Amino acid sequence: MTATASAAPSVARMFHDRVHASADREAFRVPESDGTWRAITWGETGERVGRLAAGLIALGVEAGDRVAIMAGTRYEWIVADLAIMCAGAATTTVYPTTGAPDVAFILADSGSRVVFAEDETQVAKLRAHRDELPDVGVVVLLDGTPEDDDDWVITVTDLAARGRALTETSPDAVADRIDGISPDDLATLIYTSGTTGRPKGVRLPQKAWTYQGDALTKLDLCRPDDLQYLWLPLAHSFGKVLLAAQLAIGFTTAVDGRVDRIVENMAVVRPTMMAAAPRIFEKAHARIVTTIAAEGGPKATLFTWAMSVGRKVSDLKLAGRRVPPLLAAQHRLADALVLSKIRARFGGRVRFFISGSAALAPDLAHWFHAAGVLILEGYGMTENAAGGAVNELSRYRIGTVGHPLPGTEITIADDGEVLLRSPSVMTGYHNLPDQTAEALDADGFLHTGDIGELDADGYLKITDRKKDLFKTSGGKYVAPQPIEGRLLAVCPYVSQAVVHGDGRNYCTALLTLDADALRGWAANNGLAGREHAELVASPEVHALVQGYVDELNAKLNRWETIKKFTILDRELTVDDGELTPSMKIRRKDVERLHRDALDALYES
Ligand code: AMP
Repeated sequence: MTATASAAPSVARMFHDRVHASADREAFRVPESDGTWRAITWGETGERVGRLAAGLIALGVEAGDRVAIMAGTRYEWIVADLAIMCAGAATTTVYPTTGAPDVAFILADSGSRVVFAEDETQVAKLRAHRDELPDVGVVVLLDGTPEDDDDWVITVTDLAARGRALTETSPDAVADRIDGISPDDLATLIYTSGTTGRPKGVRLPQKAWTYQGDALTKLDLCRPDDLQYLWLPLAHSFGKVLLAAQLAIGFTTAVDGRVDRIVENMAVVRPTMMAAAPRIFEKAHARIVTTIAAEGGPKATLFTWAMSVGRKVSDLKLAGRRVPPLLAAQHRLADALVLSKIRARFGGRVRFFISGSAALAPDLAHWFHAAGVLILEGYGMTENAAGGAVNELSRYRIGTVGHPLPGTEITIADDGEVLLRSPSVMTGYHNLPDQTAEALDADGFLHTGDIGELDADGYLKITDRKKDLFKTSGGKYVAPQPIEGRLLAVCPYVSQAVVHGDGRNYCTALLTLDADALRGWAANNGLAGREHAELVASPEVHALVQGYVDELNAKLNRWETIKKFTILDRELTVDDGELTPSMKIRRKDVERLHRDALDALYES
């Protein structure tokens, strides 16, 4: 398959075309403080973006310069990103939850010249590392007014005013910049976890997004009349690609990045589609099931019956078989009494959900399917601007991630690794030629680090992972090795540590303690003479280790923190198959052999 020609040469042009085609149509819907939602048209968005783009030019931002955004998912994030695009610059994305040292690294590594910062909390991280940020000339504050009156931090209103002033003298400044952008120019630098713990900047060109927009338009998925609910972090490629799809297709997006508001908001906004990491579906499922279980009695019995009817119908549908009349009648009743109420929790109008970023458990997908809720799983990574393969409305298979996007080639290497080639593959890791050469081969294929297979009908299934990174069910990457190394460095008693969390909603650790060191501690703490096994099981030793884990956690990003741990009563050994002969941890074997202990850390 060959690459499709992208519709527009740049994101800015795609946006410009959308504003012209749909000026009076609703582009975004944003929450107000009184709980209502305000509609914003493409035309209004175009004006705001134009002012801020001119403001950036007035600040001295040149074509190709990097401008960073440190903010949660909200309308202003999108406007800032589009303004950066229209100024011919490139966006560096930073999660608002990223700790100050990593923020400083990302901004310095990317050479970002201007930073949009959500509030003073974000600005404080910048001030704390200002010495390391000589390139950052101006910080633009989205909310509130700067605490220090030092000209380094200006408000977004100031930026718009500078833009307005520039437009009076140079009315074509922004249009000229847009005309100058070519498809290979850098659009976005997204930082992703490296196995060493240092984030790597993924360089995505303009055509990565225009291709994604174009390819997603060709699928049997989103329509112009859809209402998307968007909460995913826009610092991540999965969130970003939804914006590209929106520009290309023209649907409306309700934006609110507050994760705790998703269910409540969905009932009000009543979207027709939403993308999420599997964690959200796990949570929704758990909430529904535990509520019903707590009620017990006839309600629970009815629920169980309705779900079993739903499951029978779902299995038949998935097998392409007819639903017999009696079952269809039962299903109508089950739907009216129970299943429709599950759908009503999401507003009742959802045509489909998209799950991506981490593996969706097939059981969960089946459970929702039985309730008439379609979750279409997709697959991709930051290095290919997120969209690699996806299930579609008219062709989906649970347990797979669907077919490659039109214009994306996927092949499986001899060792099972998924290789991917498309116009949206990154041009490389920023300033990391060796790592780029490892990820991109001479034929332009991206080596994904994932293991997979293509079935006879062309559906891709992700079965395993080659890279030494795992993902939580929230879709956050964790590099276990650096965390383990740091724990060993912080705590003199820990001899081995295995951080776990693949597909789980938080990280935990299996630890072993050095018997000699612990004996010494016990002697000084009134526990002399106890056996090692007895000591590691004691609350005193647990508290001792907890103190060190807390110390480590304070230095980690939130999603990397070790929420619980278990101390084994013996060391991991080569003989037990837990270590390689060179004493490296066999991560998967350790997890398999200690499955019960790990599972216990996830029981509430
Ligand atoms: P990121 O760059 O953060 O988007 O992470 C990309 C990685 O997430 C992929 O290389 C996979 O390891 C994982 N991933 C994304 N989608 C899926 C999926 N549907 N099933 C399993 N793993 C996935």
